[in-house]
Amino acid sequence: MSNCEREPVTTVFGSNVFSQAVMRERLPKDVYKSLMRTVEGGEALDPQIAGVVANAMKDWAIEKGATHFCHWFQPMTGVTAEKHDSFISPTPDGRTIMEFSGKELNQGEPDASSFPSGGLRATFEARGYTAWDCTSPVFVKESGNNISLYIPSAFCSYTSEALDKKTPLLRSMAALSKQAVRILRVLGNTSSNSVAATLGCEQEYFLVDKNFVEQRLDLVLTGRTLFGAPSPKGQEMEDHYFGAIHERVASFMNELNNELWKLGVSAKTQHNEVAPGQYELAPVFATVNVATDHNQLTMETMQKVALRHGFVCLLHEKPFAGVNGSGKHNNWSMVTNDGLNLLEPGKTPHDNIQFLVFLCAIIRAVDKYSNLLRASVATSANDHRLGANEAPPAIVSIFLGDQLTDIFEQLAKGVAKSSKQGGLLNLGVDTLPPLPKDCTDRNRTSPFAFTGNKFEFRMVGSSQSVSGPNFVLDTIVAETLCEIADQLEKAKDVNAKAQEILSKIAKEHQKIIYNGDNYIEEWVKEAEKRGLPNIRNAVDSIHTLLEGGVAEVFAKHGVLTKHELHARCEILLERYCKEINIEALTTLNMAKRQILPAAMAYSGSLAGTVASLKAAGATAKGQSKVLADLCSLIDELQVGIVSLEKAVEKADKTEKPETYRDAVIPAMTAVRASADALEMIVDADLWPLPTYAEMLFLR
Ligand code: ADP
Ligand code: MG
Repeated sequence: MSNCEREPVTTVFGSNVFSQAVMRERLPKDVYKSLMRTVEGGEALDPQIAGVVANAMKDWAIEKGATHFCHWFQPMTGVTAEKHDSFISPTPDGRTIMEFSGKELNQGEPDASSFPSGGLRATFEARGYTAWDCTSPVFVKESGNNISLYIPSAFCSYTSEALDKKTPLLRSMAALSKQAVRILRVLGNTSSNSVAATLGCEQEYFLVDKNFVEQRLDLVLTGRTLFGAPSPKGQEMEDHYFGAIHERVASFMNELNNELWKLGVSAKTQHNEVAPGQYELAPVFATVNVATDHNQLTMETMQKVALRHGFVCLLHEKPFAGVNGSGKHNNWSMVTNDGLNLLEPGKTPHDNIQFLVFLCAIIRAVDKYSNLLRASVATSANDHRLGANEAPPAIVSIFLGDQLTDIFEQLAKGVAKSSKQGGLLNLGVDTLPPLPKDCTDRNRTSPFAFTGNKFEFRMVGSSQSVSGPNFVLDTIVAETLCEIADQLEKAKDVNAKAQEILSKIAKEHQKIIYNGDNYIEEWVKEAEKRGLPNIRNAVDSIHTLLEGGVAEVFAKHGVLTKHELHARCEILLERYCKEINIEALTTLNMAKRQILPAAMAYSGSLAGTVASLKAAGATAKGQSKVLADLCSLIDELQVGIVSLEKAVEKADKTEKPETYRDAVIPAMTAVRASADALEMIVDADLWPLPTYAEMLFLR
């Protein structure tokens, strides 16, 4: 359907969602109200209503063409999982009726022995349960000709331990709400009953022509290029960022938006990113649980729709060396059930005690648990990005901007008495309107930046589930709010006590505030002087999960038990090993079966040329020089291959992430260096792989 004849967006949006509006229309009033008390008020779900809700869902889904339903969950793989059952229930007379019971809505039991559990469950203990999460809406999804009803679900073991990414997120939201409401009450707010974390994630991605990807085993198997000499042109012209969107890409985006809107995902912003072939999509923010589900749907839909346009969508953090990688800016705030954004500073934040308490609680949380935040984004892929001049370094710090930094400094000295103001922008052109100026400039390099009425956590990787970073944020902020609430609730003069707490936090945590450029070397030195940790790789970072009171804080707020945390740590390290192992095996495969043979073929033909030229009496100087260079690079590559094979073997025996990090990765890098040098001298017609220039610039 062309754009002109397509349905209006207002009709399309949410058309595949069993939304509040649909529920209000289709559910009996008392059932609807009861469900809303759970969805909005966090009350326990009344199991009695499930049957009625299930029936309404089934009728609605069947009208949409659905034949199946599935519990849709988020195991520790980082991607979603689903197992479909049809609605059919055969009758004795050889026909069928379509059924969907309350029990089937409430609970699923996938035989889930093959999901990562980190030792929480042995393979023979196959039972896993999924439980309907009614706080995230049910939807129908089309895949080819199949249409199913999707039920967002949590996933746990027989012993009710969390085996997924959703359960701890839901637990952390409850913890944050509880502590935030305590603060609101003690500061005199009597109207708000709950607080939800809100999240808007800006998703970066690459589009590469499918024909190129199919010729590259590395992209097919690992999502990133393990070889490739730099393109003569990279991103240095700065002409891609926010540039006019290429027609083929725009068509992709158009269809992507449409698919997302049907699912109720509020895709809002789209633009070209810094690297050639790189783009971004941002939705309108939602509560963190819904936003996390929506981000998973966004990533899936991007990949699906890209294929329809002859593209492959790469979500990897670093698909191409030498140009920017992809992240996922995690915009986070807190909102009360009556719509108050707790990070809205107002015109004069210095006298907005409530805002300052929440702000300082966050600052304290980020400083005190900086290692935990760092660990929430620790993956082998993100190691390529953090600190590589395109993403924040591995050092956690906070950008507050001029106005709040000034207030924070005033607090450290006692009481804050003033707020710097922004004024107007004057462009010096009478026909242009005067623009109000924000009271603070932006800082694109900060890992954790205050951006007006929310914080933007920028270390998150593009391909990862946002659940981890957000349940960490929720939990550590719940903890510092709890500390503050404990003191305020006991105080005779709440205001005076609050001032005292704010001042103490400002003094103690000044070291985490940094408004400068995070990409420069001087900051690394300065941060070290300040005593801020700089954990450069995922392995060291993941190990910190078992230190520094992390287990205690998760346990205290009921987010993860010690056992669950240990399991997660194990899963993360195991995943690191597996990822590097696959990359190493792919490197070997391509080096031995594609690159070496191409180089050898070229050297063979060159040798023939040299021999015949010499026989004909020519000196063949140029040819001999290229041949000599070629042979020496081939030797080097050969040596590299043998070393990598040994490193892989060693790592395989030890199964230690450190061996993958310290032996396998450097050996892989060496193989790549020789191969990339070969690419620069081997006859282009013989080179077996699409080049960086082709992949980044042709569409
Ligand atoms: P930027 O200026 O940083 O590009 P945008 O306005 O594009 O900011 O917003 C980036 C993301 O932040 C969007 O997904 C937006 O919905 C989200 N966002 C805005 N306000 C909030 C909030 N209060 N809580 C969480 N996310 C928010
Ligand atoms: Mg932004």
